[in-house]
Amino acid sequence: MVPELLVIEQVPTCPRCGTPGLLAAHVPHGWVNANGVPVEGTAIVVLCEACGSDDPSASALVTFFKVHGQVGEATVHDFVRLARAWIRNARVPAVDPEAFESDVRAWRCGAFDEVADVDADDLDWETDASPPPGEAD
Ligand SMILES: [Zn+2]
Repeated sequence: MVPELLVIEQVPTCPRCGTPGLLAAHVPHGWVNANGVPVEGTAIVVLCEACGSDDPSASALVTFFKVHGQVGEATVHDFVRLARAWIRNARVPAVDPEAFESDVRAWRCGAFDEVADVDADDLDWETDASPPPGEAD
């Protein structure tokens, strides 16, 4: 699988820090499952201004967006060169086994119960839908 840039309306937020992403790409991603069978697929990686400093190619692309704001006719070649370098190096972050075990222990102790117990009626939904005829006041 060749990594590819995603052209999408809304770039996802960074899964690491929640900051709005600058760019997203599909990259090959796989692992060996519990039966020892390789599982191959793809995953989306997000270019994040806050987390991009770990990787020099991500950092260069973040700097491109800080300087130019967007891709234009005069900067498209620089963008393509930097985007290719970022995609070549982009990897789905590995799961930290200690953090995973810590989250599992916290979950078993009920640390996430408050999040799961949110009643949908308590959420502040915004809707433009008008009530059906006859149901308005
Ligand atoms: Zn981030």
